[in-house]
Amino acid sequence: MSNQKKGAGNKRKSKSKTFYQVLTDAVNYYVENGWDSQRSLTEWSRKLRVAASREMPSDDAAKKHLTSVYRRLVIDGGALRDQPADGPKKVTLDKLKPEFRKELDKRIFASANLIELNRSQAVEKTLQRFQGWVSSIPPDGVSDFDKRQHKSIFGKSVQDIDFISRRVAIDQGHKLASNVKYLLSIQGGAIAFRWHSNYRRPGYNFRPDHKDRDDKIYLVRGSWAVEQGLIVPVYGYYDEITAAGEEVYCSCQVFPIYAPQKLPIEFLTEKGKREFNRA
Ligand SMILES: [Zn+2]
Repeated sequence: MSNQKKGAGNKRKSKSKTFYQVLTDAVNYYVENGWDSQRSLTEWSRKLRVAASREMPSDDAAKKHLTSVYRRLVIDGGALRDQPADGPKKVTLDKLKPEFRKELDKRIFASANLIELNRSQAVEKTLQRFQGWVSSIPPDGVSDFDKRQHKSIFGKSVQDIDFISRRVAIDQGHKLASNVKYLLSIQGGAIAFRWHSNYRRPGYNFRPDHKDRDDKIYLVRGSWAVEQGLIVPVYGYYDEITAAGEEVYCSCQVFPIYAPQKLPIEFLTEKGKREFNRA
């Protein structure tokens, strides 16, 4: 309904066919006529490229998703709810707002670029597949089976573009949340991070080395507890590994630790054990 209204208000826009519509026309043309000439294939390819370039990729959904992540964590203070009682306070969150805002802008910018990039790749791939299909049409025309099959394959690659956009938005949203929580934890005086991998989640394509990090604790370099010789790294420092959510589609998380007493005993030095009565 609302789409129709918009179309009526903007006649010029409604006149141009979408990439998918041109693709459908092109497939129908070859289904009816079979292969005719190199020239008509070049012409169809040109029309498809024009239709694709006219359609601006929609990064509105990504922007909306990222803004809602930002609002939940920063404006509504959700980032604090994930913190333990001895973690950072509201005043720390407020102080960091300009930095979080910058992080949000960065993620919106990255999303728009990634969606555009993925989209042009998907369009090129569809064009290649289309040209391959046309070139392989036998002299006696397209079989009924082939007609049905190819229409659905081309339709799928166009839908993939929307799927990729959503995936990019979710990934960038995770990176935003991860960086907000990291900055807040460091400002709040975190001395270590415990890694959590979602490898148990069905269908999640986890990285084996991230699964290995599950439940391991990585120390923050230069924290007061390290400086005072109370704790030592067992699995290394957090800056020696890729951060949670840093790699593409990584949905791992880290949970901050603020007190040496909360670390397993193997992290405490002799001095640390004496200090916290844990001999
Ligand atoms: Zn991961």
